Amino acid sequence: MEVPLLDLKEQYEDIQEEILLATKEIFDSQRFILGPKVEELEKRIAGYCQCDYAVGVSSGTDALLISLMTEGIGIGDLVVTTPYTFFATVGAVARVGARPVFVDIDKSTYNMDPEGLDLALSHVDEEEKSRVKAIIPVHLFGQCADMVRILKVAEGHDLSVIEDAAQAIGAEYEFADGEIKRAGSMGHYGCFSFYPTKNLGAFGEAGMVTTNDRVVYNNLKTMRNHGDVARYDHSFIGGNFRLDALQAAILLVKLKYLDEWIRKRRENASLYWTLFREEGLEWILLPEEMEKRHVYNQFVIKIRDRRDELKKYLAEKGVGCEVFYPVPLHMQACFEYLGYKSEDFPVSVEAAKKTLGLPIYPELRPEQIHYVVDMIREFLRQR
Ligand SMILES: *Cc1c(COP(=O)(O)O)cnc(C)c1O
Repeated sequence: MEVPLLDLKEQYEDIQEEILLATKEIFDSQRFILGPKVEELEKRIAGYCQCDYAVGVSSGTDALLISLMTEGIGIGDLVVTTPYTFFATVGAVARVGARPVFVDIDKSTYNMDPEGLDLALSHVDEEEKSRVKAIIPVHLFGQCADMVRILKVAEGHDLSVIEDAAQAIGAEYEFADGEIKRAGSMGHYGCFSFYPTKNLGAFGEAGMVTTNDRVVYNNLKTMRNHGDVARYDHSFIGGNFRLDALQAAILLVKLKYLDEWIRKRRENASLYWTLFREEGLEWILLPEEMEKRHVYNQFVIKIRDRRDELKKYLAEKGVGCEVFYPVPLHMQACFEYLGYKSEDFPVSVEAAKKTLGLPIYPELRPEQIHYVVDMIREFLRQR
């Protein structure tokens, strides 16, 4: 049986007519950059994410970059995040000239460990303390980071919080008083990616920044267009971070289905859980749902050992799987200058060595999930 890691064709077949109609409208208008569809998408995404404002941008990477630029973060500043994330989180920090400060992750959620956060901040040199400007918690794999504790540390140190919600649109977090908030609405900026493999994927590159601050909103819009406050009047240096109307039109169609797709992803996760539990597979650690709504952009398991052999075995059996992420960022050659040692972040290093992402996309059929678990059982029996 073939079980790809992700298959976008089936989803497209279901909504093809609507998509073609929406794109035809853009073709007919011959207006391709920003415009009414982008504005409509911004309103819808802001509403969906329970934020006051949203600004469409060219990618998730650019969402992070434009947030840092708008916050005025630059050379000599420090930004705290984890080394166990997609490259863009840390790449954006370095690109504005700031220095990434890493905090290890929690071993069951793979998200920033708030205790490590306190520790990392206490290790920053006295004279550098005032240069720590922001924290970037990553809602990895589709589950919110421990925001209560992260927000508290941020408040205590007067830091801005830029949520990397690229994998987590629609993820929910419950506060102690029962209030539920969505990814991207808890910090000062929420950064989203509509890369095709994300839960809400465009037909190309696209992203969004959310905020509840009107001034930030206006600055983001200016920054997105070369810092152009009025036509050919530049008070600061921005870039071209604009979103295509075509992508906005497509995303407007797809957004209507997002909750249904999330429901199916969660159903798939729950079937994996049931099957793995029946097996009593001690060799496998399943993803834990610690926060209110995990949206399962990825379903990542941890294997005690022989991860790479299992990956190879599954590939031979027709099961697509992927390692997110094989090299933690503090061990990347381009970040050698930060001076970290491999053992500085043992939980990230362990995750990089032992985790494996399994197929979880909404259109997956139950028999495919059964097959994946069967194949993993077969592999483990061979030892
Ligand atoms: C996908 C992703 C990004 C970057 O988004 P792009 O749209 O690919 O630029 C940033 N951070 C995380 C955690 C991501 O998963």
